[in-house]
Amino acid sequence: MYRGRLAPSPTGYLHLGHARTFWTAQQRAEAAGGTMVLRNEDIDAQRFRLDFVSAMMEDLRWFGFRWQEGPDCGGPFVPYAQSERGHFYRAALEELRQAGWIYPCRCSRSDVLRALQAPHAGEEEPVYPGTCRPAHGTIFERLETKGVNWRFRVPEGQGISFTDGCFGYQQFEAGRDFGDFVIWRHDAVPSYQLAVVVDDAAMQITEVVRGADLLLSTARQLLLYRALGLIPPAFYHCPLMNDDSGVRLAKRHDALSLRTLRARGMTPQMLRQSW
Ligand code: GLU
Repeated sequence: MYRGRLAPSPTGYLHLGHARTFWTAQQRAEAAGGTMVLRNEDIDAQRFRLDFVSAMMEDLRWFGFRWQEGPDCGGPFVPYAQSERGHFYRAALEELRQAGWIYPCRCSRSDVLRALQAPHAGEEEPVYPGTCRPAHGTIFERLETKGVNWRFRVPEGQGISFTDGCFGYQQFEAGRDFGDFVIWRHDAVPSYQLAVVVDDAAMQITEVVRGADLLLSTARQLLLYRALGLIPPAFYHCPLMNDDSGVRLAKRHDALSLRTLRARGMTPQMLRQSW
């Protein structure tokens, strides 16, 4: 049984690029006769705003998105907002600690902030130089989370490959394409990588459809699935949308936000035809 998801972060208004990716997700779920889940990825307390949550729901509905499970309608895997799912992330973190996959790190804050949000093309987290990485096999006795970040130790030199539904065969090398990444922030917030894996697994998502800027994150996430003994879903990454000057659409592109386009009299049908 196909289970897909829409996983927007309420850190700004949704734009045309989100709509196109989400539309692909919805069409794939419909074609498979599956279920669509809406998950509010409001984990980043510093960046998310409550008014963006209501705007997000309104914009999604206006555009024609429909979901069978979500924060507004419930479902078998409640809650559907990440801010209410802290105990799941904490349990996964504890499991990773016991298995010796993670270590505390006191390195720079900017790396860490970047790890929390989904990294975008050209904004990748730099490969961690290993400053705080302990000897192999070190298991930390306590999950001390005050003031330290926890990093996931990647198996250096190991290839991670998967076949993407859209981009085909993908291969990355741990330690070269990406390094030990933050999975828990010093202010007790799980990173995007951890939260998304825990949730996609818990909600039994069978295919993740999202933007191509997350291809490399998928490699990181596959390591987390493995470390947590979870079965990964299939992946389908969509080409990103650029503006007229070739710059990738982002939340700062107000002119192409769904709200602005709607206010200008555009209909969802007109927007879809423009793709
Ligand atoms: N909330 C994330 C984002 O908006 C979701 C990424 C994903 O689909 O995994 O970038």
